[in-house]
Amino acid sequence: MKQPAAHPKGTNANVLLSSVFGPYARDDEFGSRAINPMELYHNQVTRAQGAFSVRMYHRSWGIMMIQANISAPCTVLDFPTREVFEREIVRHRYDIVGISSIIVNVGKVREMCRMVRRLSPESTIVVGGHVAAVPGLEYMIDADYIVKGEGIRWMRSFLGENVDAPIRHPHIISGFGLRAMGVKIPQPPGSTAATIIPSVGCPMGCNFCTTSAFFGGKGRVQNFYESGADLFRVMCEAEQALGVQSFFIMDENFLLQRRRALELLDLMKAAGKSWSFYVFSSVNALRKYTAEELVDLGVSWVWMGLESPKSGYAKLGDTDTRDLARRLREHGIKLLGSSIIGLEHHTPANITEEIDYAVEHETDFHQFMLYTPVPGTPLYRQMAEEGRLLDDVDLADIHGQYKFNFSHSAISREESKILLDDAFARDYERNGPSLYRICRTTLAGWKRYKAHPDPRVRRRFEWEVRSISRAYSGLLWAMEHRLRKTNTAVSDKVRSLRLELDAEFGRLAWVTARLLGPLLLWTSWREERRLAKGRTWEPPTIIERSERALT
Ligand code: SF4
Repeated sequence: MKQPAAHPKGTNANVLLSSVFGPYARDDEFGSRAINPMELYHNQVTRAQGAFSVRMYHRSWGIMMIQANISAPCTVLDFPTREVFEREIVRHRYDIVGISSIIVNVGKVREMCRMVRRLSPESTIVVGGHVAAVPGLEYMIDADYIVKGEGIRWMRSFLGENVDAPIRHPHIISGFGLRAMGVKIPQPPGSTAATIIPSVGCPMGCNFCTTSAFFGGKGRVQNFYESGADLFRVMCEAEQALGVQSFFIMDENFLLQRRRALELLDLMKAAGKSWSFYVFSSVNALRKYTAEELVDLGVSWVWMGLESPKSGYAKLGDTDTRDLARRLREHGIKLLGSSIIGLEHHTPANITEEIDYAVEHETDFHQFMLYTPVPGTPLYRQMAEEGRLLDDVDLADIHGQYKFNFSHSAISREESKILLDDAFARDYERNGPSLYRICRTTLAGWKRYKAHPDPRVRRRFEWEVRSISRAYSGLLWAMEHRLRKTNTAVSDKVRSLRLELDAEFGRLAWVTARLLGPLLLWTSWREERRLAKGRTWEPPTIIERSERALT
C-alpha cells in the first residue's frame, strides 16, 4: 500500500465521495443482506414490531463532513445505484474517488474499486470508514489508499490544505423518509432534528466497541468542537439554516464531557434556547448529572448501553439501571437501551433471565446485538489470539444481527440467532410498540413540566408534546384495536394511554382518534401483508455538489 502523499493537483483536484451502492435490503453477490436494510431503527431496534416498526434513513454523515471541510471541488453521492455510480465516474472523470463503507459492505467496495479502475483509470481511489479496520483489506480491494480513523484531516492533507483549519459543520437533517404503520409520516421543515457531531470516539473503550476502537480506543476521543461556545455557535447556525430546535448529537458519549455540556447549557440559558437533545451516553456519564440538569440541558432522548450487571463493564459501575430508566421516563426522557446477547457468562440456562432483566427496563426502544468480535476491536484481537474466530463467516454477516462469528463456550452459532430473535420478541410482547412507549414518556414529561417556572423549559415540553397532542390519539386507537386479539395486556395499556391523552388534550385528540384511527388500522393491516410478502424500502439517491464542483 502506497504512503499518503499530496495529490499533484492539490486543492484543484476534483473529488467524488460516495457511499456504497444499493439496493441494500436483499441477498446479493456483493454482500447485501435482506435482513440488513439501510434503516437503522428497523434493522437493529424495532425490527420485531411489524407494522409499528419505526423506519427511516440516515445520510452518510462522514462523507458530508469531509465535503464541508475541504476547499477542492467535491461531489457527494449518497445511496447510488450501481448505474448512477458508473454514470457519475464516467461523466466527470474525478481525480479522486473516495468510497466510504462499513465492514459488511466490503464486497461493494471491491466492486466499486473495480469499476473505477475500468471506467476512470486516472482516478486515485481512497477507501475509508469502518471497512478500513478489516485486516488485510489492501489485498481484498484495489484501492490506492485506505484511511483508518477520522477522514477530514487525512483528506485535507492529501489535497495540500490546512489540516488544522476549524471544522465547518454541514447542515444535516438527522433522518428522512420516515414511515410507520404503513404510511409515510410528514416531516415538515424544522420538525426533524439536525445532526451535530461534536466528537468522534469514546474513551471508555469497551472491548466490543467499533467506534471507540476506530477513533483511537480506550482513553481517546477526538473533539471537533472543544468548548460549549463552539458547539453553541454551530447549533445556532443549524437552527437558522434548517429551522430546527432539536439536535441529534452524534457523539458516542456526549455527556462524558461535562464541562463542555454545562458551558453549552449556560449559553442556552443566556440566549433563551429551548432546544431538545438526542444523545448517546454511558451510564457513568449520565450519573454525573441530576435529573434537573438533564432537563435544563434539554436532554430528551438517550441511547445507552444496558449490558448485564454481570458483564463487569466499568461504565455500568454499581448502578441500578432499571431504577435509572424509570427515573428518566418520569422526567420525560426517552431511553433507547442497548443490550448484548451472548456475553461470555451467558448460557442457555441463564440467558432468558438476562433477557428478561433487559426487558424489565421498559425502555422506549431496545436494541439487542450479539456479542460480536468486529475487526479492529480489542475483542476481535482477543478472540483471534484465543483461536475462537470462526473461519467460514462472511464479512457481510458480521454485524451482530445474525449469528455468532466466534466460538462461544456455551451457546452455538445457530442458537445465537434464536436467542437474539427471542430477545426482540420478548421486549415487544411485554412492552409493546415503541411508538406507544415514546408517547407514554413524552406525556409523562409534559405533565411534570408543563407548569415549570422557567419558560425556557416549558417551551421545550410544549414543543415535544405538540405531535402527541394531535395525530397520536389516532395512532394509539389503531394500535389498541390492532393488538386487541394478539396482545390484550398491551392493548389495554395503549387504551389507558389514549384515554389519558383525550383527558389532557380534549376534543381534538378524541376527534383524531375516531377519524384517523380506522384509517391507520387499515394501513397497518396492509403493511403487515406487504411485509409478509417481503416488501422492502430503499433510500433515494442523493447527489450534492459543492460550489466549486458546480462551476
Ligand atoms: S461506553 Fe458505549 S460508546 Fe463508549 S466504548 Fe463503551 S460501548 Fe462504546
